[in-house]
Amino acid sequence: MGSNQRRQILIDRMQELDKSGLNCRDCQGTCCTYEANSMMVTPVEAFELYSFLKNQGQFDQELKTRLEETVRTYRLDQSLGNGKKSFLRRTYTCPFFNHKELGCPLPVEVKPFGCLAFNAHHEKEKAGEFCFSEKETLEKREEAFAAAEALENENLKKKYSLYWDKIPLPVALLDFFKFTDADQE
Ligand code: SF4
Ligand code: SF4
Repeated sequence: MGSNQRRQILIDRMQELDKSGLNCRDCQGTCCTYEANSMMVTPVEAFELYSFLKNQGQFDQELKTRLEETVRTYRLDQSLGNGKKSFLRRTYTCPFFNHKELGCPLPVEVKPFGCLAFNAHHEKEKAGEFCFSEKETLEKREEAFAAAEALENENLKKKYSLYWDKIPLPVALLDFFKFTDADQE
């Protein structure tokens, strides 16, 4: 299944809101910072972003350092004391955020589902109570692709030895650095 196809419902809704004047222009991107962002992703979302970054030549040491810094700064993982870690939903400034208006450099085709569903719902008032994630739109997307995606997630978990279903974006991407040399995709 194409990354575009599984996101189309969310992209259509975003464009619909934009036509009504509801968009992210003139906003500094509060929802991508520690003030509001706690994005978690599934294996499918992480893999699509990993593949994109790798193709762009951006899955490199600089990114790794940035991801590690984010995990450390916002304590997105927690040691369980036996060499294992658990991963927590906590707010963090996204390592991809450019700290300016329309500050996400990622194309819609590989953005996490939650990022696409989180939109402005007021023409002038940005952030705060007027920006939110539309649960119905996310559910509609999920229902449409549930069976196929469940299988894809399971296959990716096996292939890449991923022991999680949904974790913070920076932690998920770091897992793919294990495969940068050996990956045949
Ligand atoms: S992926 Fe993009 S839209 Fe999502 S939190 Fe990060 S910078 Fe923001
Ligand atoms: S969803 Fe809201 S907080 Fe996020 S960039 Fe758009 S206007 Fe700003």
